Amino acid sequence: MAHILRLSALAVLLLSACCWADSELQEEDTAEELSVSELSVSELLERANSHLSEFRSDNDPILIEGDIAIDSETERNADPCTSSGCKWGKASDGKVYVPYYIANHFSSREKAIITRGLESFSSFSCIRFRPSKSSDRDWLSIESKNGCYSFVGRRGGKQVVSLARSGCLYHGTVQHELLHALGFNHEQTRSDRDNHIKVLLQNVVSGMQHNFRKIATLNQGSPYDYNSVMQYHRYAFSKNKQPTMVPIPNANVSFGNAKEMSRNDIARLNTLYKCSSISAKRPPPTIGLVSRGVGVVLAQVEKVMAQEAEVEANRAVVGAQVAVVVARIAAVEAQVAAVEARVAVVEAQLAEVEA
Ligand SMILES: [Zn+2]
Repeated sequence: MAHILRLSALAVLLLSACCWADSELQEEDTAEELSVSELSVSELLERANSHLSEFRSDNDPILIEGDIAIDSETERNADPCTSSGCKWGKASDGKVYVPYYIANHFSSREKAIITRGLESFSSFSCIRFRPSKSSDRDWLSIESKNGCYSFVGRRGGKQVVSLARSGCLYHGTVQHELLHALGFNHEQTRSDRDNHIKVLLQNVVSGMQHNFRKIATLNQGSPYDYNSVMQYHRYAFSKNKQPTMVPIPNANVSFGNAKEMSRNDIARLNTLYKCSSISAKRPPPTIGLVSRGVGVVLAQVEKVMAQEAEVEANRAVVGAQVAVVVARIAAVEAQVAAVEARVAVVEAQLAEVEA
């Protein structure tokens, strides 16, 4: 009897020891998660990619600007590829379908973070990331490789977007790498950045100055955005804890702290891909909004006309663009018909009221 008691006492001791250890571990994890959640996308990327060169294998692509992959050094000064065909194609329904594959080595929790990032784009743009099919020619292969990185724009065939399991699986980081894959560069490399950011090369780690080179970016009239998810932070690549970038004219303005895509990030994505308001998820106009609906339709007609002019100017892409324009005209006509129907309803109601 005493023997059994001793045994069970021992069992209780062992059990509690195991569970104390567990809960301590969990607390450490939670503390880590909490401090990480304070970090901006820019800081997360720097943290995840800080020791990559030590672990690089020959199979890894060359990384520039921290997380942009290139196949060879000669691409370093490449023009923004969106003007030379690296945008993803638009379907006849006005949406841009980007096929993706998520590697099996991610846990279901990690996959959920990635999927949330992918799906966020459909709530504010005409970009639709969808699972790849065997017939897809170009697709994103989302894998946990050495750090967080992506190529800029559509590369043709399979292109890796690396989201390392340690350090890259945050909503904003996923959006940042996907924006690279959609053709966007870092904010501080914009052609007009010298009007908004003073780069202090004397504080940059030697050999890292290329991260601050300017690119002849296609800015599409979008404002420079300190809150862009693509803007690096004040001390990025600093060798001496002094700032590497200072805003102009007010040096104290905070920047580089984004945790997800800003309104400007969304607006310029919609501009680059010419996402029309038709393909956005928009509730049907109510009767009181008929005149606004007409305005929207007119704006759409103007947009279509502008696109037709563009088609004239660019014979090389005439075929594809005409198809898009035709689809838009059909969509606009459908909307005009819908608005006319609503106007008829309003008129009928007015007649009723007057009667
Ligand atoms: Zn980046």
